[in-house]
Amino acid sequence: MTKDLRLTQATTNVGNSSLPGEQSLDIEAICDTACDASPVIEGIYAHVPFCAHRCHYCDFFTIAGREDAHAEYVDRIIDEIDAFPESLKAEPVKSIFVGGGTPTILPVKPLSRFLETLKRRFADEHTEFTVEANPETVDAEVADALVHAGVNRVSLGAQSFQSDLLETLERRHQPGTVASSLAHMRAAGIESLSIDLIFGIPGQDLAQWQHDLEAAIDLDPGHLSCYGLIYEPGTPLRGRLDRGEVNPVPEEDEASMYEWTIQRLEDAGYEQYEISNWSRPGLACRHNLLYWQNGNWWAFGPSGSAHVNGWRWRNLPRLGRYLDGSGRSTVLDLERLDEDGRIGETFMMGLRCIDGIALEEVDRMLSGEGGARRRPIIERHVASGLLLRSENRLRLSGEGLLLANVVVTDLLAPGPDCGTET
Ligand code: SF4
Repeated sequence: MTKDLRLTQATTNVGNSSLPGEQSLDIEAICDTACDASPVIEGIYAHVPFCAHRCHYCDFFTIAGREDAHAEYVDRIIDEIDAFPESLKAEPVKSIFVGGGTPTILPVKPLSRFLETLKRRFADEHTEFTVEANPETVDAEVADALVHAGVNRVSLGAQSFQSDLLETLERRHQPGTVASSLAHMRAAGIESLSIDLIFGIPGQDLAQWQHDLEAAIDLDPGHLSCYGLIYEPGTPLRGRLDRGEVNPVPEEDEASMYEWTIQRLEDAGYEQYEISNWSRPGLACRHNLLYWQNGNWWAFGPSGSAHVNGWRWRNLPRLGRYLDGSGRSTVLDLERLDEDGRIGETFMMGLRCIDGIALEEVDRMLSGEGGARRRPIIERHVASGLLLRSENRLRLSGEGLLLANVVVTDLLAPGPDCGTET
């Protein structure tokens, strides 16, 4: 799953209790006070919070089982789509991204109805329409249904091609199902395919990672996401780590895996466009790009997060409350970053991208009150070699890609009087 993009709430709480900060979203009032013109929504994210099993490293908002709620969920999310604010312009969008959870776990008929609703409302022939899938949930019927509903890109959660490592991750599919599900999608006519892999799995060495990446390259996807395993707070895996029951891969070994990935994928003709993402030329994920370039996107479904003209929020991560409600989701954490926050976020997002940030934009941000204090931080990291200026852009160096968190943490450190409007 596209870890950095999901922006869903890390929780397994699916009850009906209230959460601090929840409120109804009055987007019309926000736009009246904060937008020069009616915002243009360029992307749609829709969340499907169901999986066959909850993997122990996962911190996405998703629920194992609850097959009884699948059809009802589709009715409810279509109701939410119908309540999309008329004051926003969103037709057609650049990207629709249906994530989870496992969207393809839904029965075919309701899944088709849901996707066709999104297509009718937001897509045209130029829209990139992505659905996330797990290998064991894709057969010829599902692949055909996706195509008929307008889906033209599928992101497949392979994670590994070795049974023992899949078991360590608590993934339920067999390695061979990745190739068969890709074959079903190609046969149905979906050419734009992405594979997600995880490295740094406990017990994995460099040779095993090389085997996994070679297996993925052999399948010739247009896009690859390769993430180092994260021990997210609150997950069962993190609990095992804290109790000393798991031996994490040493940092230097994980760094070797990452460095080898960069070289191998370059040799195989993939372009790295972000710390964890590679694509064939022209096949970078549009939803990813919207996110990293501060675009406007709307979210449907519990825990989905949205960003419109500097305002951001996330939908309440409560399945019961969502199913009982109607229209737009209740939201949490509605906020508008102040100037300092916006500059920090622009650095954080922009430096994740291999192209970095235009020097003109960097100078503009550093010349304001909120930016000046970041100039010495940038100069320090340029001097240490983690950042470099090249081709009129500021970007992470090869070493900086490995230590991106150090650079970003420094740039995000709060200055005096920082805050958010709420
Ligand atoms: S399949 Fe993906 S979304 Fe579902 S529990 Fe596993 S990691 Fe999380």
